[in-house]
Amino acid sequence: MSDGLIFNETLYPGVQVSYSCKQILYQEKTEHQDLVLFSNPVFGKVLMLDGVTQVTTADEFIYHEMMSHVPILAHGAARNVLIVGGGDCGLAEEVLKHKSVESLVQVEIDASVVEFSKQHFADFNQGVLEDTRFELVIADGMKFAAETDRRFDVVIVDSTDPHGPGAVLFSEEFYRNIHRMLTPGGVLVTQNGVPFLQKEELVTSVERFSRIFKDAAAYIAAIPTYFGGHMTLGWASDNQDLRRQAISVLEERFKAAGFETRYYTPEVHAAAFALPKFILDAVEEGRRKA
Ligand code: SAM
Repeated sequence: MSDGLIFNETLYPGVQVSYSCKQILYQEKTEHQDLVLFSNPVFGKVLMLDGVTQVTTADEFIYHEMMSHVPILAHGAARNVLIVGGGDCGLAEEVLKHKSVESLVQVEIDASVVEFSKQHFADFNQGVLEDTRFELVIADGMKFAAETDRRFDVVIVDSTDPHGPGAVLFSEEFYRNIHRMLTPGGVLVTQNGVPFLQKEELVTSVERFSRIFKDAAAYIAAIPTYFGGHMTLGWASDNQDLRRQAISVLEERFKAAGFETRYYTPEVHAAAFALPKFILDAVEEGRRKA
Protein backbone atom coordinates (compact mmCIF):
# COMPACT_ATOMS: atom_id res chain seq x y z
CA MET A 1 0.00 0.00 0.00
CA SER A 2 1.19 3.57 -0.55
CA ASP A 3 -1.29 5.34 1.69
CA GLY A 4 -0.09 8.80 2.60
CA LEU A 5 1.91 9.17 -0.61
CA ILE A 6 1.09 12.33 -2.60
CA PHE A 7 1.59 12.86 -6.35
CA ASN A 8 1.94 16.49 -7.42
CA GLU A 9 1.16 17.61 -10.94
CA THR A 10 3.63 20.38 -11.73
CA LEU A 11 2.74 21.19 -15.35
CA TYR A 12 2.32 24.86 -14.55
CA PRO A 13 5.11 26.68 -12.68
CA GLY A 14 3.69 28.36 -9.60
CA VAL A 15 0.73 26.08 -9.16
CA GLN A 16 0.37 22.38 -8.56
CA VAL A 17 -2.37 19.87 -8.01
CA SER A 18 -1.82 17.16 -5.41
CA TYR A 19 -3.40 13.71 -5.58
CA SER A 20 -3.36 11.40 -2.61
CA CYS A 21 -2.24 7.96 -3.61
CA LYS A 22 -4.04 4.91 -2.23
CA GLN A 23 -1.86 2.49 -4.15
CA ILE A 24 0.78 2.59 -6.87
CA LEU A 25 -0.54 0.17 -9.52
CA TYR A 26 2.26 0.43 -12.07
CA GLN A 27 5.42 2.43 -12.42
CA GLU A 28 8.05 2.41 -15.17
CA LYS A 29 10.70 4.64 -16.68
CA THR A 30 9.98 3.73 -20.28
CA GLU A 31 12.21 4.47 -23.26
CA HIS A 32 10.29 7.73 -23.72
CA GLN A 33 8.83 8.98 -20.41
CA ASP A 34 8.28 8.42 -16.70
CA LEU A 35 5.03 6.51 -16.28
CA VAL A 36 3.07 6.07 -13.05
CA LEU A 37 -0.42 4.71 -12.53
CA PHE A 38 -1.93 5.04 -9.07
CA SER A 39 -5.32 4.87 -7.42
CA ASN A 40 -6.91 7.99 -5.91
CA PRO A 41 -10.08 7.99 -3.75
CA VAL A 42 -11.82 10.60 -5.96
CA PHE A 43 -10.59 10.01 -9.53
CA GLY A 44 -10.04 6.27 -9.46
CA LYS A 45 -7.02 5.21 -11.50
CA VAL A 46 -4.79 8.15 -12.47
CA LEU A 47 -2.15 7.96 -15.20
CA MET A 48 0.69 10.47 -15.08
CA LEU A 49 3.40 10.76 -17.75
CA ASP A 50 6.42 12.86 -16.82
CA GLY A 51 4.45 14.22 -13.86
CA VAL A 52 1.45 15.37 -15.93
CA THR A 53 -2.03 13.92 -15.51
CA GLN A 54 -3.05 12.13 -18.71
CA VAL A 55 -6.24 10.26 -17.99
CA THR A 56 -8.33 9.08 -15.03
CA THR A 57 -11.06 6.48 -14.90
CA ALA A 58 -13.43 9.05 -13.34
CA ASP A 59 -13.44 11.70 -16.07
CA GLU A 60 -11.95 10.06 -19.18
CA PHE A 61 -15.41 9.80 -20.73
CA ILE A 62 -15.65 13.58 -21.10
CA TYR A 63 -12.44 13.94 -23.00
CA HIS A 64 -12.69 10.81 -25.10
CA GLU A 65 -16.33 11.47 -26.14
CA MET A 66 -15.62 15.07 -27.13
CA MET A 67 -12.42 14.26 -29.04
CA SER A 68 -14.10 11.52 -31.08
CA HIS A 69 -17.83 12.19 -31.61
CA VAL A 70 -17.46 15.90 -32.45
CA PRO A 71 -15.23 15.44 -35.54
CA ILE A 72 -16.81 12.14 -36.66
CA LEU A 73 -20.44 13.34 -36.41
CA ALA A 74 -19.54 16.74 -37.89
CA HIS A 75 -17.88 14.98 -40.84
CA GLY A 76 -20.78 12.61 -41.38
CA ALA A 77 -18.97 10.09 -43.59
CA ALA A 78 -15.72 9.29 -41.80
CA ARG A 79 -14.52 5.84 -42.90
CA ASN A 80 -10.80 5.99 -42.10
CA VAL A 81 -9.64 7.56 -38.84
CA LEU A 82 -6.14 8.12 -37.44
CA ILE A 83 -5.28 8.62 -33.78
CA VAL A 84 -1.80 9.91 -32.93
CA GLY A 85 -0.93 9.17 -29.29
CA GLY A 86 -3.88 7.93 -27.25
CA GLY A 87 -1.91 5.18 -25.54
CA ASP A 88 -4.60 4.40 -22.96
CA CYS A 89 -6.89 3.44 -25.91
CA GLY A 90 -9.92 5.12 -24.38
CA LEU A 91 -10.24 7.40 -27.39
CA ALA A 92 -10.00 4.40 -29.74
CA GLU A 93 -12.87 2.75 -27.88
CA GLU A 94 -15.09 5.77 -28.54
CA VAL A 95 -14.11 5.99 -32.24
CA LEU A 96 -14.88 2.30 -32.75
CA LYS A 97 -18.43 2.80 -31.45
CA HIS A 98 -19.11 4.33 -34.87
CA LYS A 99 -19.97 1.34 -37.06
CA SER A 100 -19.52 3.65 -40.07
CA VAL A 101 -15.78 3.76 -39.29
CA GLU A 102 -14.12 1.09 -41.44
CA SER A 103 -10.54 1.48 -40.19
CA LEU A 104 -8.83 3.06 -37.21
CA VAL A 105 -5.05 3.38 -37.15
CA GLN A 106 -3.45 4.42 -33.86
CA VAL A 107 0.18 5.58 -33.87
CA GLU A 108 1.54 5.54 -30.32
CA ILE A 109 5.23 6.07 -29.55
CA ASP A 110 5.34 4.19 -26.25
CA ALA A 111 4.39 0.50 -26.27
CA SER A 112 4.52 0.46 -22.47
CA VAL A 113 1.53 2.80 -22.22
CA VAL A 114 -0.58 0.48 -24.36
CA GLU A 115 0.68 -2.65 -22.61
CA PHE A 116 -0.26 -1.62 -19.11
CA SER A 117 -3.50 0.04 -20.31
CA LYS A 118 -4.73 -3.36 -21.51
CA GLN A 119 -4.75 -4.51 -17.89
CA HIS A 120 -5.41 -1.38 -15.89
CA PHE A 121 -7.78 0.56 -18.16
CA ALA A 122 -9.90 -2.34 -19.35
CA ASP A 123 -12.93 -0.50 -17.94
CA PHE A 124 -12.72 2.00 -20.78
CA ASN A 125 -10.76 0.39 -23.59
CA GLN A 126 -12.63 -2.91 -23.65
CA GLY A 127 -12.52 -4.69 -26.99
CA VAL A 128 -10.34 -2.19 -28.82
CA LEU A 129 -7.37 -4.48 -29.50
CA GLU A 130 -9.68 -7.31 -30.61
CA ASP A 131 -11.60 -5.11 -33.06
CA THR A 132 -10.61 -6.13 -36.59
CA ARG A 133 -10.88 -2.50 -37.75
CA PHE A 134 -8.16 -1.44 -35.28
CA GLU A 135 -4.48 -1.27 -36.23
CA LEU A 136 -1.85 -0.26 -33.65
CA VAL A 137 1.41 1.17 -34.92
CA ILE A 138 4.16 1.74 -32.35
CA ALA A 139 6.04 4.71 -33.81
CA ASP A 140 6.66 8.43 -33.50
CA GLY A 141 3.60 10.16 -34.88
CA MET A 142 5.86 12.74 -36.49
CA LYS A 143 7.72 10.09 -38.51
CA PHE A 144 4.51 8.29 -39.44
CA ALA A 145 2.93 11.52 -40.69
CA ALA A 146 6.02 12.36 -42.77
CA GLU A 147 6.20 8.93 -44.43
CA THR A 148 2.68 7.52 -44.78
CA ASP A 149 0.85 7.48 -48.09
CA ARG A 150 -2.39 6.48 -46.35
CA ARG A 151 -5.37 8.83 -46.34
CA PHE A 152 -7.75 9.61 -43.47
CA ASP A 153 -11.05 11.47 -43.12
CA VAL A 154 -10.47 12.37 -39.45
CA VAL A 155 -7.15 12.71 -37.61
CA ILE A 156 -7.20 13.05 -33.81
CA VAL A 157 -4.00 13.95 -31.98
CA ASP A 158 -4.42 12.69 -28.43
CA SER A 159 -0.92 13.64 -27.35
CA THR A 160 0.84 14.71 -24.23
CA ASP A 161 1.61 18.41 -23.87
CA PRO A 162 4.28 20.06 -26.04
CA HIS A 163 7.17 18.78 -23.93
CA GLY A 164 9.26 15.65 -24.37
CA PRO A 165 8.11 13.26 -27.12
CA GLY A 166 4.87 15.19 -27.61
CA ALA A 167 6.53 18.48 -28.63
CA VAL A 168 6.88 17.51 -32.32
CA LEU A 169 3.13 16.93 -32.54
CA PHE A 170 2.58 20.68 -32.18
CA SER A 171 4.92 21.63 -35.03
CA GLU A 172 3.96 23.25 -38.33
CA GLU A 173 5.74 20.43 -40.20
CA PHE A 174 3.56 17.86 -38.45
CA TYR A 175 0.37 19.79 -39.21
CA ARG A 176 1.43 20.12 -42.88
CA ASN A 177 1.85 16.35 -43.11
CA ILE A 178 -1.55 15.84 -41.49
CA HIS A 179 -3.06 18.23 -44.04
CA ARG A 180 -1.45 16.17 -46.82
CA MET A 181 -2.96 12.91 -45.52
CA LEU A 182 -6.49 14.23 -44.98
CA THR A 183 -9.09 13.43 -47.65
CA PRO A 184 -10.97 16.45 -49.11
CA GLY A 185 -13.15 17.95 -46.38
CA GLY A 186 -11.30 16.00 -43.69
CA VAL A 187 -10.67 17.38 -40.21
CA LEU A 188 -7.84 17.48 -37.66
CA VAL A 189 -8.61 17.67 -33.93
CA THR A 190 -5.86 18.16 -31.36
CA GLN A 191 -5.40 18.10 -27.61
CA ASN A 192 -4.67 21.79 -27.12
CA GLY A 193 -4.42 22.43 -23.38
CA VAL A 194 -6.20 24.68 -20.89
CA PRO A 195 -6.03 28.22 -22.32
CA PHE A 196 -6.44 29.92 -18.92
CA LEU A 197 -3.01 28.47 -18.07
CA GLN A 198 -1.60 27.58 -21.52
CA LYS A 199 -2.85 30.41 -23.76
CA GLU A 200 0.28 30.54 -25.95
CA GLU A 201 -0.11 26.84 -26.82
CA LEU A 202 -3.54 27.57 -28.30
CA VAL A 203 -2.43 30.78 -30.07
CA THR A 204 0.52 28.99 -31.65
CA SER A 205 -1.50 26.00 -32.81
CA VAL A 206 -4.17 28.21 -34.40
CA GLU A 207 -1.45 30.33 -36.02
CA ARG A 208 0.09 27.22 -37.57
CA PHE A 209 -3.32 25.77 -38.54
CA SER A 210 -4.18 29.09 -40.22
CA ARG A 211 -1.11 28.87 -42.45
CA ILE A 212 -2.15 25.44 -43.69
CA PHE A 213 -5.95 24.98 -43.46
CA LYS A 214 -8.83 27.15 -44.61
CA ASP A 215 -10.52 26.94 -41.19
CA ALA A 216 -8.57 27.14 -37.92
CA ALA A 217 -10.62 27.03 -34.74
CA ALA A 218 -11.13 25.34 -31.39
CA TYR A 219 -13.87 23.95 -29.23
CA ILE A 220 -14.11 23.40 -25.47
CA ALA A 221 -14.91 20.77 -22.88
CA ALA A 222 -14.70 20.84 -19.09
CA ILE A 223 -12.45 18.04 -17.82
CA PRO A 224 -11.99 18.16 -14.02
CA THR A 225 -8.47 16.73 -13.99
CA TYR A 226 -7.20 19.12 -16.68
CA PHE A 227 -7.51 21.85 -14.09
CA GLY A 228 -7.63 25.57 -14.83
CA GLY A 229 -10.99 25.83 -16.54
CA HIS A 230 -12.09 24.86 -20.04
CA MET A 231 -9.84 22.61 -22.08
CA THR A 232 -9.55 23.47 -25.77
CA LEU A 233 -9.49 21.00 -28.59
CA GLY A 234 -7.88 22.38 -31.72
CA TRP A 235 -9.89 22.16 -34.97
CA ALA A 236 -8.49 22.47 -38.51
CA SER A 237 -10.17 21.70 -41.82
CA ASP A 238 -10.46 22.98 -45.38
CA ASN A 239 -14.23 22.56 -45.06
CA GLN A 240 -15.27 25.79 -43.39
CA ASP A 241 -18.83 24.60 -42.80
CA LEU A 242 -17.89 21.44 -40.93
CA ARG A 243 -17.87 23.01 -37.46
CA ARG A 244 -21.18 24.75 -38.10
CA GLN A 245 -23.29 21.64 -38.60
CA ALA A 246 -26.96 22.21 -37.68
CA ILE A 247 -28.07 20.52 -34.47
CA SER A 248 -30.81 18.75 -36.45
CA VAL A 249 -28.13 17.12 -38.66
CA LEU A 250 -26.05 16.15 -35.63
CA GLU A 251 -29.15 14.71 -33.91
CA GLU A 252 -29.96 12.59 -36.95
CA ARG A 253 -26.40 11.28 -37.21
CA PHE A 254 -26.08 10.66 -33.45
CA LYS A 255 -29.37 8.74 -33.41
CA ALA A 256 -28.25 6.65 -36.38
CA ALA A 257 -24.93 5.92 -34.65
CA GLY A 258 -26.99 4.20 -31.95
CA PHE A 259 -24.87 4.36 -28.79
CA GLU A 260 -25.15 6.01 -25.40
CA THR A 261 -22.88 8.75 -24.06
CA ARG A 262 -22.34 10.44 -20.69
CA TYR A 263 -21.15 13.89 -21.83
CA TYR A 264 -21.66 14.28 -25.60
CA THR A 265 -25.02 15.40 -26.96
CA PRO A 266 -25.67 17.16 -30.29
CA GLU A 267 -26.52 20.33 -28.32
CA VAL A 268 -23.26 20.12 -26.34
CA HIS A 269 -21.43 19.54 -29.64
CA ALA A 270 -22.81 22.72 -31.18
CA ALA A 271 -22.37 24.73 -27.97
CA ALA A 272 -18.73 23.60 -27.60
CA PHE A 273 -17.76 25.90 -30.48
CA ALA A 274 -19.24 28.94 -28.67
CA LEU A 275 -16.01 30.07 -27.02
CA PRO A 276 -15.74 32.27 -23.92
CA LYS A 277 -14.42 35.68 -25.07
CA PHE A 278 -10.86 35.23 -23.68
CA ILE A 279 -10.51 31.92 -25.54
CA LEU A 280 -12.00 33.35 -28.75
CA ASP A 281 -9.51 36.23 -28.41
CA ALA A 282 -6.65 33.70 -28.27
CA VAL A 283 -7.97 31.92 -31.38
CA GLU A 284 -8.30 35.22 -33.25
CA GLU A 285 -4.80 36.24 -32.15
CA GLY A 286 -3.49 33.01 -33.67
CA ARG A 287 -5.34 33.66 -36.92
CA ARG A 288 -3.96 37.23 -37.10
CA LYS A 289 -0.37 36.07 -36.53
CA ALA A 290 -0.50 33.55 -39.39
N1 SAM B 1 -5.42 12.91 -22.46
C1 SAM B 1 -4.01 13.22 -22.40
C2 SAM B 1 -3.77 14.71 -22.47
O1 SAM B 1 -4.71 15.43 -22.80
O2 SAM B 1 -2.65 15.10 -22.15
C3 SAM B 1 -3.28 12.44 -23.47
C4 SAM B 1 -3.37 10.99 -23.18
S1 SAM B 1 -2.42 9.89 -24.05
C5 SAM B 1 -1.85 8.93 -22.73
C6 SAM B 1 -0.97 10.77 -24.60
C7 SAM B 1 -0.11 9.81 -25.42
O3 SAM B 1 0.70 10.51 -26.36
C8 SAM B 1 0.86 8.97 -24.58
O4 SAM B 1 0.50 7.62 -24.65
C9 SAM B 1 2.24 9.24 -25.20
O5 SAM B 1 3.09 8.12 -25.18
C10 SAM B 1 1.82 9.65 -26.60
N2 SAM B 1 2.83 10.40 -27.37
C11 SAM B 1 3.62 11.41 -26.94
N3 SAM B 1 4.43 11.83 -27.94
C12 SAM B 1 4.15 11.05 -29.04
C13 SAM B 1 4.65 11.00 -30.37
N4 SAM B 1 5.62 11.83 -30.80
N5 SAM B 1 4.11 10.10 -31.23
C14 SAM B 1 3.12 9.25 -30.82
N6 SAM B 1 2.62 9.23 -29.55
C15 SAM B 1 3.13 10.14 -28.68
